[in-house]
Amino acid sequence: MKTIKDAIIETSKLKVQGNNITHKANIQELLKEAMAIGQDLTTSISKLGSSQGTQNNTTPEATQPTVNTMAAQIVQLSKDMKEMKTLVSNTLESNTKTWAQVVGNENTTGNEGPPNQHRKLRAKRSEQIKEEAAKYSIKLLATNAPNEVKKRLAEMTHKDLIGQLQNAINKQYANNPPKLLPGMTKNDKDTYYRLQCKSPEEVQRLKSMNWGAAYEGLTEHKRKHGFVVHGVLKADLDPSTDNPDKAIEELEVENSSRNLHIVKLSTIKKKNPENPGIITRHHSVIIFTYSATEANECMERGVIIKGRFYSNIEKYAPQLNITQCYNCWGFGHVGAKCRKKQRCNNCGETEHTANECTNTTQCLGCGEGHPAWHRECKKWNEESTRLEQLRTTTLPHFIE
Ligand SMILES: [Zn+2]
Ligand SMILES: [Zn+2]
Ligand SMILES: [Zn+2]
Repeated sequence: MKTIKDAIIETSKLKVQGNNITHKANIQELLKEAMAIGQDLTTSISKLGSSQGTQNNTTPEATQPTVNTMAAQIVQLSKDMKEMKTLVSNTLESNTKTWAQVVGNENTTGNEGPPNQHRKLRAKRSEQIKEEAAKYSIKLLATNAPNEVKKRLAEMTHKDLIGQLQNAINKQYANNPPKLLPGMTKNDKDTYYRLQCKSPEEVQRLKSMNWGAAYEGLTEHKRKHGFVVHGVLKADLDPSTDNPDKAIEELEVENSSRNLHIVKLSTIKKKNPENPGIITRHHSVIIFTYSATEANECMERGVIIKGRFYSNIEKYAPQLNITQCYNCWGFGHVGAKCRKKQRCNNCGETEHTANECTNTTQCLGCGEGHPAWHRECKKWNEESTRLEQLRTTTLPHFIE
């Protein structure tokens, strides 16, 4: 026990950067888990001891499950130790994993029904894997391309498109041009194309590629990293009324020690249907940057707005907030992006809207006698419980 405690302290002292931030977090998580299991074991053992002391007060059947539980805990503990060993060696090894190896890791974590906390940990790791896999890919958008270009892209096979893009890359990079892997995602409807490279370094080198030279209007989609600053005085910063360029410039100057480059400012829209008239003096501001490092830096160190220091900051993760579609009344997407049939929120039918509805009220989510948007709906509760759990498995920082 004491050794694990020491290990936790030692690990927390480690100074790490880049990928190793995640490895360190994982190791800490595992150590804490090992600690909890160890404590459980100690309790079980002492219980076992006392029940033996009182002899025949406890039947053998009563102690049996405890022994089984302990055995299971020991198995889990040794599994955790193994995982920890792998993590430690990952941390030490140079960062030359291929994309396939990163994705392949997903299947190597245990798979037989572990307790809930282990499942959570695994979910957290698969989020990490997803983020890490993203470093091996590059997303291109043709949203602003002329229709004629969009049409040509749509008609092209995956293989031909990769070939054409590789040709354009070869023309722009005289020295050792980055290589695209033979496999891509092609979404002609939303005109996005996701390409894969062998290493994050190649992806990084492609950041300077002029994709417009290959196809007019083709651009790289840069991922925005947002963080939410809570309790900001509206008088000091209000992205809905301030001049955006001026506000961004001022913030960048004030936070130049965090090397902050802002792409966009926004606010969290608070829904308070009971009190729509109440105007608050404070609000939550979302700051977006292209750089994970800059976002992490601000989340860790806080930000300065009009001389005031703010440290109540969290990662902007809209997927963790409940959204209900006003078109189909399903969850997890907004009406503007819905591709399903419009439904009546009073009865669930597709042929009319609620205004025209003459049917009895029946929720299309749960079948009970309330409209589909009702907050006391079983579906709404299920969705918020799901998000609650997702929240506990989401990484608090961005992966660079
Ligand atoms: Zn919908
Ligand atoms: Zn209806
Ligand atoms: Zn319902």
